[in-house]
Amino acid sequence: MQVKNTTKNHLETRILGKELAEGLSSKEEGVGAVIIGLEGDLGAGKTTFLQGFAEGLGVKDKILSPTFVIMNRFPLKKGPFKDFYHLDCYRIEREEDMAILEFKDIISGEGNIVCIEWPEKVKGYLPKGMIKVRFKILEGDNREINIEYGKQ
Ligand code: ADP
Ligand code: MG
Repeated sequence: MQVKNTTKNHLETRILGKELAEGLSSKEEGVGAVIIGLEGDLGAGKTTFLQGFAEGLGVKDKILSPTFVIMNRFPLKKGPFKDFYHLDCYRIEREEDMAILEFKDIISGEGNIVCIEWPEKVKGYLPKGMIKVRFKILEGDNREINIEYGKQ
């Protein structure tokens, strides 16, 4: 299932992220993490979307656009998930670099919600059923944001 959206400013993108987080439920036990891949050019709004997403999960910390840090973990106090992971794989040059992050454990961990900017860089690690959010920069501050729910 694909849901198409257009936002006119960063706040609308944030709200869209928040709504996605609020509508998510955890998977059934034993089937691993819920994974969301965010695709789109630099400045398209992936991190902005995730700031709203984190708010929807109840995270109080500020979600930054990591320059050197590839992964951040936020423990969650409420809702169906235990930990929220935010990864930005822009700087990953070889997929094998993900080994040091113990990424396989993270995506197989029950109760984890994992959001990945630049998922195309680590394709080999990702399951087929992941949710995809695709960002396109339109005129001015407009953004097309399409959410595709994994085929399960
Ligand atoms: P990315 O993570 O995709 O590189 P960011 O979210 O870090 O992008 O940056 C998006 C930039 O574009 C921010 O400076 C934001 O204020 C601006 N912006 C303008 N219009 C929008 C919009 N409709 N949605 C999201 N961000 C927008
Ligand atoms: Mg970003």
